[in-house]
Amino acid sequence: MTRVPLRHALADLPPYVPGGRAPVGAAAFKLSSNENPYPPLPSVVAAIADAAVDVNRYPDMYATELTAAVADSLGVDPAGVVMGNGSVAVLAHVLAAVVEAGDEVVYPWRSFEAYPIAVSLAHAAGVPVPVAADGRLDLAAMAAAVTPRTRVVLVCTPNNPTGPAVHADELAAFLAAVPGDVLVVLDEAYVEFVRDPDVPDGLAVFAEHPNVVLLRTFSKAYGLAGLRVGYAVARPRLATGIRAASTPFGVSHLAQLAALASLRARDELLARVDRVVAERARLLGALRRQGWTLPDSQANFVWLPLGDQATAFAERCSRAGVIVRPFAGDGVRVSVGEPEATDLFLEVAAESHPR
Ligand SMILES: *Cc1c(COP(=O)(O)O)cnc(C)c1O
Repeated sequence: MTRVPLRHALADLPPYVPGGRAPVGAAAFKLSSNENPYPPLPSVVAAIADAAVDVNRYPDMYATELTAAVADSLGVDPAGVVMGNGSVAVLAHVLAAVVEAGDEVVYPWRSFEAYPIAVSLAHAAGVPVPVAADGRLDLAAMAAAVTPRTRVVLVCTPNNPTGPAVHADELAAFLAAVPGDVLVVLDEAYVEFVRDPDVPDGLAVFAEHPNVVLLRTFSKAYGLAGLRVGYAVARPRLATGIRAASTPFGVSHLAQLAALASLRARDELLARVDRVVAERARLLGALRRQGWTLPDSQANFVWLPLGDQATAFAERCSRAGVIVRPFAGDGVRVSVGEPEATDLFLEVAAESHPR
């Protein structure tokens, strides 16, 4: 029987494992996908409801109003802002815009699980560089991994799932070492949660380096994970290329209007981010008092480097009604959620910490 062959790359693709969900009908805290624990604001729900009556029409392909509002809020040229169906999709479009088959893409590992998939689907050769034992990116090793075949370096800051963000001095040294024709993608999905004063302002870094692209999203701090809106900030020439490689009409009308409403409610949403940051401090502090040695977190999650205990620990959490995200053989990532969820999680952690 003749069959349609699938791409060879698919056989080697690591699966993207979504964060676990509670079984239907069971009550559990979902701390497995770094979502915002707060429901959308009434003004955002109203914007989505109002937008619903227009869904017989295609959305504005370039999300013009949203693009202008985002550019204005960041103080950048709107010609350099490219919206997409979540920043994961934007990353795929960035790679599609610059990578030729066989080019190398350097990325940290362990890091965001979408990276090896996106790199492989872009026909690139992935070059993973181990994250240091303290969960920090090893930017010196990443710079050293750049070869004449390297087209892109992905810098996840804060790093998902380990938590720390890169510091200004190490990023400056890294950018000085990387050739100007290598694209450096700063994936800042969690930028709003950063409080470490040594972390540079991505926009200032972007302003100084034409080969830097920022990726940001409405999924985490702005609580719109379910609507899929993210964007790149790039030089206009690169942005034109990224737009050319993008899925047409990739951001729905509902998503565009919800993101606009969220920008209007920015102060209220950022006050919620402050609450998550305070809850992160409480969670990290309590875990450390229990005796855990943990990396810093500048995001809305905490990483427990449990090694081969990761899966068993996650199962204990599930039985207690808290769903966390295990990475088998490596560690467990727990998103910062409701205070009740923190309390429940801390009970399991107290019984489980490796002595
Ligand atoms: C969650 C996350 C994203 C954002 O994904 P969206 O597609 O915008 O929902 C991007 N990068 C990292 C590292 C993330 O953890």
